[in-house]
Amino acid sequence: GRFFCGWICPFGLYMDVITIFRKTFKKRYFLLPISFNKFLDKFRYLIFAIIFAIPFFIAPLHSQSFQLALFFAGPFKHWTIFLGPLETLIVPDSGAWIIYGLNLSYPYVRDVMFYSTGFFIQFNAILFIILTFVGSFLVRRLWCRFCPLGLSFAVLNKVKGFSWLPIVHLDKSEEKCTKCGVCKRVCPTQVTEVYENKGGNVSTSICTHCFRCVEMCPYEGCLSVKVAGKSVLSSRNWLEPSETE
Ligand code: SF4
Ligand code: SF4
Ligand code: SF4
Repeated sequence: GRFFCGWICPFGLYMDVITIFRKTFKKRYFLLPISFNKFLDKFRYLIFAIIFAIPFFIAPLHSQSFQLALFFAGPFKHWTIFLGPLETLIVPDSGAWIIYGLNLSYPYVRDVMFYSTGFFIQFNAILFIILTFVGSFLVRRLWCRFCPLGLSFAVLNKVKGFSWLPIVHLDKSEEKCTKCGVCKRVCPTQVTEVYENKGGNVSTSICTHCFRCVEMCPYEGCLSVKVAGKSVLSSRNWLEPSETE
């Protein structure tokens, strides 16, 4: 589930490209207060619930809307909001803008335009792009902190009968951890559980499975990525040269 966030999501890639762009300016990112970051992680459950509950509340306002709500359609386009991160810059169908024959769009921007009127259609779209660009420039993977699509993977994994789904795990060996704190510092979404939790599966709902912590943990085999129970990647002791060097 969350593997999608670290390696496939177009909006995630966009935020990573902005991070590279920021590094070229040698600017340091800002960290959100940990308590606020944890609050955002919980807040996503509310956004998630609202997105799926609103259509049923507004159902009486629209003909056939209850049926439409059941089929995830209707006046409130919750599927498109939910799947917003998948909207890429260049889209195959009609985009938010057509410039020199290219269909251009941006995550969520069609929804922003859909719910705006008159002058605010273009204004809100441009404002949204500026805010998400600047936000991602200042804070790593900002949108992932409250993205309902990212949360849905974690929610699905908790549903009875789907517990087999997360075949990719982030594992920690408690004996090998020296509490150096490197994993906490390098994590783009400021996950603290890898540092704080005892051994075993330390994947959390806000972890994007980017495995930066595994790459940077300086103790051999302390962190590892397990796919279907088999270790496929683990941390190396890069502080001291190995005996063969
Ligand atoms: S949390 Fe959302 S925006 Fe971030 S990578 Fe996952 S799906 Fe994309
Ligand atoms: S980087 Fe590795 S050794 Fe350091 S605190 Fe994290 S898990 Fe422990
Ligand atoms: S905890 Fe590790 S794998 Fe998860 S997002 Fe942070 S750095 Fe990436």
